[in-house]
Amino acid sequence: MAKTEEVGRCIEWQGYCQEGVPHVYHKGRMQSVRRLLRAMAGKKVDDDKFITAKCKNRLCVKSEHMLVVDHTQMVKIAGTASSDSAARGRNISMTKRKTAKLNDEAVRQIRASTDSADVECLKHGVSRSTVIAVRSNRLWKDRTMFGQLMR
Ligand SMILES: [Zn+2]
Repeated sequence: MAKTEEVGRCIEWQGYCQEGVPHVYHKGRMQSVRRLLRAMAGKKVDDDKFITAKCKNRLCVKSEHMLVVDHTQMVKIAGTASSDSAARGRNISMTKRKTAKLNDEAVRQIRASTDSADVECLKHGVSRSTVIAVRSNRLWKDRTMFGQLMR
């Protein structure tokens, strides 16, 4: 506990960290400080469980802030921390916006044009991949009889 310091409502580890997680050399091997403190308090944590900090402070080793989670929960927490899911959400809405610029007429022009996808995407303000998707009929399925005959 000599290597800890009270920071706000947390107790931060001032010693060695492995991958950003407090670790200490104890009984001949590197151990998670949180796991060790848990064991000392008589609340041993299974090896397949993880101890994370409720306060989101990676250096916090305060027992009240510890949260024991299983692997699935840990992945979920790690995902939220990197805001990976938020980024994915933004990408999806961007794709939607791109598609929204298209209309039947634009799609007809893109398909009828002999210009390359690089040129068509600039004409219609959509991405190059959208043009390719439209042409290969992956996007904006052609429901007209004319379209059916063209293929
Ligand atoms: Zn804390």
